[in-house]
Amino acid sequence: ADLFRPERANARGWELREPDALDDIDAARSPWADHRWQAGPVLAAEVTGGEAHEVRNPARPDDVVGQVVQANEADLGAALAAAAPWTESAAQRAAVLNRAADLYEANFGEIFALLAREAGKGLPDAVAELREAVDFLRYYAARGEELADAAPWGVFTCISPWNFPLAIFTGQISAALAAGNAVLAKPAEATGLIAHRAVELLHQAGVPRHALQLVPGAGRKVGVALTGDARVGGVCFTGSTATAQAIHRAMAPVLRPDAPLIAETGGLNAMIVDSTALPEQAVKDIVISAFQSAGQRCSALRVLYVQKDIADSFTEMLLGAMDELRLGDPWRISTDIGPVIDADAKAKIDAHVAAAKAEGRLVHQVAAPRTGTFVGPAVIRVSGIGDLAEEIFGPVLHLATYRAEDLDRVVDAINASGFGLTFGMHSRIDDRVDQVTRRLKVGNLYINRNQIGAIVGSQPFGGEGLSGTGPKAGGPNYVPRFTRRPLPGHAV
Ligand code: GLU
Repeated sequence: ADLFRPERANARGWELREPDALDDIDAARSPWADHRWQAGPVLAAEVTGGEAHEVRNPARPDDVVGQVVQANEADLGAALAAAAPWTESAAQRAAVLNRAADLYEANFGEIFALLAREAGKGLPDAVAELREAVDFLRYYAARGEELADAAPWGVFTCISPWNFPLAIFTGQISAALAAGNAVLAKPAEATGLIAHRAVELLHQAGVPRHALQLVPGAGRKVGVALTGDARVGGVCFTGSTATAQAIHRAMAPVLRPDAPLIAETGGLNAMIVDSTALPEQAVKDIVISAFQSAGQRCSALRVLYVQKDIADSFTEMLLGAMDELRLGDPWRISTDIGPVIDADAKAKIDAHVAAAKAEGRLVHQVAAPRTGTFVGPAVIRVSGIGDLAEEIFGPVLHLATYRAEDLDRVVDAINASGFGLTFGMHSRIDDRVDQVTRRLKVGNLYINRNQIGAIVGSQPFGGEGLSGTGPKAGGPNYVPRFTRRPLPGHAV
């Protein structure tokens, strides 16, 4: 019955199997097919503005999407000086955030166009991303109302990644705002246009300028300036573990020891497929978990363990399914896998695959288009998770086999990586699933399904160990962490 509480209602989204839905989407986004967006700092003070960065479509490098003026030092100083908490009542703030959710949905055509052309997101990913952003706005608005008498930290710096340029950007900001903080938002350099449009919609909904300012720029400049300043009361960050550690060090000298760093970081996510798994289902879920969004999710599957007894036939089936994937322009509905975010990302992933190939460990790689920053989905043989030095953020799956009697050792190796974000298991023996899940240290655990795409309000998302500080995004403990007094009974 709990599921039907009104505040649990998730955004409706679009059913892409309906021909009418596709026609509607095409009609709404086609005016934006050649549009060039202009973005830059949005301050509650005058903007000076630094250099402008041109944005190009990762799938079609000749497609100029727009430009983003960077915040310069004067802008950072002005933003810090002008930031002031949002003092309207929690109910008023919630009403504004709900209005922003409606505005996001009303502007879906432009948002889908931006997600495709700036971030390389295919339509199913874009639909899911808009839904998640809207869910965050409404869910955190409701949680903020429950905390009506709690005090905000003051000014929150929110540093967000390019892989969910709307959803995570919006999630961080809306949680901080729902609690009454002022936000300084530093979007990823690769996706400043989407961030700028989101901030415009939030302001249009009624968020005061002093409570939400946008400061685009390089992490080394903007990020450092806005995390190591005594006027900043807390930091929310999603990105690499190394950057989270650097932010923590930058904050240490100036912040009260209890002031929060809320960090969601990387993972070396594993899945175990045993001999009782339903192979067709497991293959489908592996392809989604490892390759959807071109593998550019923190939650994505990186290391697959298949029980030795079924490994040969199972691998053959998996490689066959990979060959069915269509790579191409994410604007087209027939595309399964779009580009990776930029040339640097592609170079890093390509180098990883090339090194494996040179060692004779490349099992398979799907062919990729030559223009644009595409990487063909690949499978690399490893002896286990311990072979991986770091997370490779792209469509690369590492494949290991294990013997049934070594199951505990596999789980211990996964734990020993130090990460603990997502984990998947395909098995039809309950005791075996229990054996694994009792031993494993992980944030989000998925049995007999894919391991990406957590849903706000019903599947809070976040990891442990090197994967993040908690509390989980999209869960009941998140907004309280943005206040000085968490809800009684809610652990942070
Ligand atoms: N929440 C996303 C998911 O469940 C992943 C977020 C991320 O990549 O940071 O797939």
